[in-house]
Amino acid sequence: MKKYDDIVVGAGIGGLTLAVLLSMNNRKVLLLEKNASIGGAMKRFYRKGAPFDTGFHFTGGFYKGGVLHDMLTVLGIHDYIEPVFLSTGEANRFVFESDGLAYDMQPGISNLRQNLKKYFPGEQMAIDKYFDMVTMVSEKTVSLDLRKISMSPDVIEEDFISLDEVLNGLTQNKLLKALLSTYTMCYGVKPEEISFANHSRVCYGLYESVARIKRGGEAFIDAFKGEISRLGIDVMCNSYIVDCQDINNDYVGRFVLNNGQEFTCENCIFTIHPQEIVKVLPKKHLTRAFIDRVSSFEPTIGFFLVFGLILDEKPCEDFKSTIVSLLPAADFNQLLSPDYQGKSALVIMRSLEEAGGKIYKTINTFEPSFAKTVEAWKDSKIGRRPKTYQEYKKKRIERIRQRICQYYPQYNDSLNIVDAASILTFRDYLNSPDGSAYGIKQKIGQYNLFGKLPLRNVYAAGQSSVLPGIVGAMLSSFIVGRSIIGKNDYNNFIENRLCN
Ligand SMILES: Cc1cc2nc3c(=O)[nH]c(=O)nc-3n(C[C@H](O)[C@H](O)[C@H](O)COP(=O)(O)OP(=O)(O)OC[C@H]3O[C@@H](n4cnc5c(N)ncnc54)[C@H](O)[C@@H]3O)c2cc1C
Repeated sequence: MKKYDDIVVGAGIGGLTLAVLLSMNNRKVLLLEKNASIGGAMKRFYRKGAPFDTGFHFTGGFYKGGVLHDMLTVLGIHDYIEPVFLSTGEANRFVFESDGLAYDMQPGISNLRQNLKKYFPGEQMAIDKYFDMVTMVSEKTVSLDLRKISMSPDVIEEDFISLDEVLNGLTQNKLLKALLSTYTMCYGVKPEEISFANHSRVCYGLYESVARIKRGGEAFIDAFKGEISRLGIDVMCNSYIVDCQDINNDYVGRFVLNNGQEFTCENCIFTIHPQEIVKVLPKKHLTRAFIDRVSSFEPTIGFFLVFGLILDEKPCEDFKSTIVSLLPAADFNQLLSPDYQGKSALVIMRSLEEAGGKIYKTINTFEPSFAKTVEAWKDSKIGRRPKTYQEYKKKRIERIRQRICQYYPQYNDSLNIVDAASILTFRDYLNSPDGSAYGIKQKIGQYNLFGKLPLRNVYAAGQSSVLPGIVGAMLSSFIVGRSIIGKNDYNNFIENRLCN
């Protein structure tokens, strides 16, 4: 039976980060992935030669001193990840469809404050107070600084008050409240359910800058592949743990894989959905309360995605990277509710992509979506879905196509839809229980599954642990990594990597 120091389960951005971090600290690591290849939600796919992203489209925090910048630097892959900043307000626009009002989100908190004050001259105090609070939360959150992270949660006063309560206390202006809530779509939880602290932790980086990445998630995967090979990390795809054996004193002695192989390790870290972790752990070692807590976690919103190409002869320079969010209502509690019956929010992203020596004008669109919408086909599997599902997709694609062309009439004849994905697509591709975009809702007052589990050598990390999105998934791995590597060695390592 082969022995590893650490087995990392799941090779999305969370698992890749952890495997590389541990291996850089001289630990012998095995990375297990259920799919045929690594990358998880970072994977791209190709249609008509053009690349499209699945679960990674843009990020914040990509500036010197920002946590993403630091994590990539520590992992030695910063230079392979080239940001394409959305550097003007126009590039990140929010449109209220009912009256056609458009608001441009300038990058940089000080620019954004000034700009919003021009839109809402009577709301200067509310705007200042809001951004002061977001900044204060970010400064108080030690886990956004790799030198200070630890397993003890950063609990501050703002963890116990919802975004909704803060906004209602600041202003009665519905449009301003909506604009300050728009990034709820970047973590998939309603303003009344998310703490102001977690909202701020996700938004601070996005307010400072929004960037797409050249070559999207593929740039990350290739960079990680380089490190995996340099460090000699063992990777097994099409592999997953089916059983935990020889449990003594709550310590798992043997992990059994689907292919019959068995391994022993000091630590096994799951970076997959919490409800999938519990399926693997032996029930007699878990309390009822533990199982109930994990079962009670709710999924975040998912997305229905439509992928398109603009096939025209116009110069590429006219086709800038932009994100436009069309908002049919100003209440995000409504827009992010599975019970909402009205028109959905729609995010339209334009991006120039290069592949095989050609440049493509791509359009990716997202509509929030929920399990309820696809309930009728929940037992079907990818590639084998019934005709009724194809018809549902066709209708939804057509509706979205019309909305794209309403906003961009110039694409009426040149927009070519090449594919679409529902939350069932994401569920099946990512081996998740529900296809939600960000794992579990990280609701106010909730105690997530993170760090050491009831079995002493088993841990949880990944996007459902501390913060959603790629930054949150990577951060969870740094925090668990520190606990495994040990405080002193970790501190020396980080200091060394960030100083050189
Ligand atoms: C449509 C969509 C759009 C998004 N857009 C953005 C965005 O623009 N910016 C952003 O920051 N975030 C975005 N996200 C969220 C982001 O993709 C995730 O937060 C992040 O990628 C999660 O990383 P992870 O490693 O925790 O999980 P995943 O990427 O889901 O990786 C988990 C891996 O574990 C594997 N696995 C599952 N079960 C097992 C098992 N039992 N054994 C072994 N392997 C297993 C899966 O196959 C998968 O490869 C988006 C998500 C979606 C779905």
